[in-house]
Amino acid sequence: MEQQFELLRKYQSVDMELERYEKEMRASNNRKELMKYRDFLLEQQTLLKKIGSEVEVMGDRAEALADEVERLNAAVAEAAGLFEKETPQDAEQAEAQIASLQKLLGTITRYESEIAKLRKDADARDRLQHEVRVRAAKARAEFDRIKVLYDEEYKNASVKLEELQKRVAEEEKNIPAQLLEKYKTIKRHSSPPVTTIHDGRCGGCNTQLPAADMDKIRTGAPYVECENCGRIILVAE
Ligand SMILES: [Zn+2]
Repeated sequence: MEQQFELLRKYQSVDMELERYEKEMRASNNRKELMKYRDFLLEQQTLLKKIGSEVEVMGDRAEALADEVERLNAAVAEAAGLFEKETPQDAEQAEAQIASLQKLLGTITRYESEIAKLRKDADARDRLQHEVRVRAAKARAEFDRIKVLYDEEYKNASVKLEELQKRVAEEEKNIPAQLLEKYKTIKRHSSPPVTTIHDGRCGGCNTQLPAADMDKIRTGAPYVECENCGRIILVAE
């Protein structure tokens, strides 16, 4: 096999080792737990904001209703005063005055019960907000605990990661630019990009090589490219 392909294979083997290691680091249980707690904390934050704005809307509504009740009470007092001062001229007028008073009182009662319901709902939300805060504080403590472990783990893993990255960079220097470019292009869709031939098939995707490629190999071509997956297929010695 030509030397540049030997070097390419060597480069690939370190490159794949680096890739596996990065994957392993991402799969760390501490990292997964951290992500889980982070997502949970963000959810709680959103929930608190939602409850907060609901409580605000309820407060505004209750305040507006209370103002209205105050206004209606004044109207009732005024009407009652009038009723006492000026005796109605007939029964019909008296009934009309009573009916309008009753209507006012009915509205006041309705508003007051709505205010009471709003207060009750707002209290329930306050309690919920408290529960959410307690829950979030516990999750935050767990997050902080795991973060310490993960930071330590990451620090240790980074030593090996950097070492692998350095080795990959070293090996990369031995690969002609064009071939390296090709390798990286193939890697985007088929990894590992370099494979060998097995029983006339591509070692990457197992597709049978066409007769033309087999001819090229027989006449000494060091490699062919897979028609199906695009991999560089080296001819094993
Ligand atoms: Zn293939």
